[in-house]
Amino acid sequence: MEDKKTIKRVLSGIRATGRLHLGNYLGAIKGMIELQNNNEYETLYMVADVHTITTPYKIEELKINRREVLIDYLAAGLNPKKSIIFLQADVNEHTELAFLFSSIMTIARMQHLPTFKEKVIQYPQNATMALLNYPILMAADILIYKAGLVPVGIDQEPHLEVAREIARKMNQMYGTDFPEPVRFATKGEYIPSLTGEGKMSKTVINSFINLTDSLEEIRKKIRSVPTASVAGGEMSSGLKSLFTFANLFIPTEVENYKKEFNAGTLQFVKLKDAIAEAIFAELKPFQESREKIASDQKYVDEVIADGAKRARKIAQQTIKEVKQKMGLL
Ligand code: ATP
Ligand code: MG
Repeated sequence: MEDKKTIKRVLSGIRATGRLHLGNYLGAIKGMIELQNNNEYETLYMVADVHTITTPYKIEELKINRREVLIDYLAAGLNPKKSIIFLQADVNEHTELAFLFSSIMTIARMQHLPTFKEKVIQYPQNATMALLNYPILMAADILIYKAGLVPVGIDQEPHLEVAREIARKMNQMYGTDFPEPVRFATKGEYIPSLTGEGKMSKTVINSFINLTDSLEEIRKKIRSVPTASVAGGEMSSGLKSLFTFANLFIPTEVENYKKEFNAGTLQFVKLKDAIAEAIFAELKPFQESREKIASDQKYVDEVIADGAKRARKIAQQTIKEVKQKMGLL
């Protein structure tokens, strides 16, 4: 008999709040692809459409975005023959398990999460129960598949801590066998915002480069990064961000640019344009592949239907186990 424990499960997802950006690609998708292409793992990748409603959204945009994110997944190299690719809303068990999990987490614990506090500042009029519950739903997304490895950016670490806490508590209180999930990190685990403050985010305007941006758009956006620094002196946060991009996209040229900066001879626009060109070169194959996939919407429908079926099968099993252990079945 095959030993179930030798196949490790992986789960990750991206909110359908807009079009994917460089941070999503480097911090999450690159890791998702690496694990998908490693036979030791069974990978499940969802579009986190239910998570989208935890912050204000437009119905028509959500409908479009969740499909666009899935197409982005496919164009980036997620392969339905190797991974279960699905829409979160197609598997009801996620929200069901989240409710069961919410019975063991206190309000105080959830209110103290830095991600909750940040989103409350971003949306002061919309600090909803759904927002407070976001990390509990995320724990359910992961644990419903008993996934032990989660390829996500560093901003998600506090949420993974919650997922581990829930796994531990559930195992202690109800005798379940949830793993304590850990993050699978990539080199681009934190991509800064183009504004020079905070991280690149779909929902923060002027912060991001989309995966579908043209060379012209990328050049314009990178040129807009504030660089006001006294040459040779302390680097501004915008300039530090530029060097983060340089490290990722033009690693062999970074030393030279640093030397120029220290000597006071650095031409910012030269550095910026070199970065923009390297970013575009990396995105070009993705953009070409995306056009092909988007022209075959029937194929996209098939991927969605097949993913839902396969994900549900695992999720239903876990819900059954948990309800039995909790005395509800
Ligand atoms: P939103 O503003 O709606 O929260 P987001 O840009 O933060 O959007 P998410 O859908 O929350 O994107 O996150 C999707 C994945 O991308 C997660 O794994 C997250 O850690 C990763 N990610 C998001 N932003 C960055 C970033 N700037 N650098 C690296 N990884 C990131
Ligand atoms: Mg986010």
